[in-house]
Amino acid sequence: MIQLYIPLNFLGVIYREIKQSLTDLDKMFGLLEREREVADVPGAVELAVQGAAVRFESVNFAYDKTRPILRDVSFEIPAGKKVAVVGPSGSGKSTLARLLYRFYDIDAGRITIDGQDLRGVTQSSLRRSIGIVPQDTVLFNDTVAYNIAYGRPGASQDEVEAAARAAHIHAFINASPKGYATMVGERGLKLSGGEKQRVAIARTLLKNPPLLIFDEATSALDSTNERAIQAELESAAQNKTVLVIAHRLSTVVDAHEILVLEAGRIVERGSHEALLAQQGTYARMWRLQQSGGDQPVPALQA
Ligand code: ADP
Ligand code: MG
Repeated sequence: MIQLYIPLNFLGVIYREIKQSLTDLDKMFGLLEREREVADVPGAVELAVQGAAVRFESVNFAYDKTRPILRDVSFEIPAGKKVAVVGPSGSGKSTLARLLYRFYDIDAGRITIDGQDLRGVTQSSLRRSIGIVPQDTVLFNDTVAYNIAYGRPGASQDEVEAAARAAHIHAFINASPKGYATMVGERGLKLSGGEKQRVAIARTLLKNPPLLIFDEATSALDSTNERAIQAELESAAQNKTVLVIAHRLSTVVDAHEILVLEAGRIVERGSHEALLAQQGTYARMWRLQQSGGDQPVPALQA
């Protein structure tokens, strides 16, 4: 009996281990799936960043080739300027962010940074130059410190902590018995959407790249945290090139240009004042949000 019992128990442990590994593998393949969409071309060169000026030239894109998502999208973010994108849910805003990070290759047109086509540069050099705070952050099954320092391997503990403080996540991390050595993810600390978002913000602040993408970067935060962190993000974005997908219109007022996206097309564009004067979709969104006391961007019908 005993002889049988031990191996079975042992097998149970192995089974759980394998099952766990499979979930990790699933995740990894999920990531690889995305990675497989793009590859470095033979002879790909390092992206040489000057001011990180971004250009989308007549970009078309579809995830599933039968259903176009972005249609003839052209815009420019001059070096050190901020361009904001607003529009209803599903209009393609996050897709723009993913294409600039080159999670996918486009079907027509060109995307360049400082004149260099994204398809001609190495993915590693591209991703070193960009900090992205996505709408939904996926963290690694590793320590909190690893997850923050991921943006800048070799960062010191002090630097990691400073970034965590700026992202208002330090106190939360410290309250955990193992502090920064706490594992996150399935077998460790489970973080809420807002906590994950703050880890992603800390990571990006620490990375301090020349080009920033904020995709509704504070949408999962409560309004007190949101205001405080918004100020940190604004100071981090000083003199950087920024693509911001807006959660609150108050954060786009000072943008160099605001793009209104509907069903994958830019339907309005201009400065805040120019768009208000135009009395179109943007002006309507602005009025709605003003009457709501700067509530999140209302979901307008496309
Ligand atoms: P937004 O950020 O403006 O809400 P998205 O860019 O996320 O919009 O999505 C635009 C459209 O692309 C939506 O219709 C969405 O369903 C579709 N989409 C997004 N991601 C994928 C994907 N990985 N595969 C297929 N379709 C997708
Ligand atoms: Mg989105």
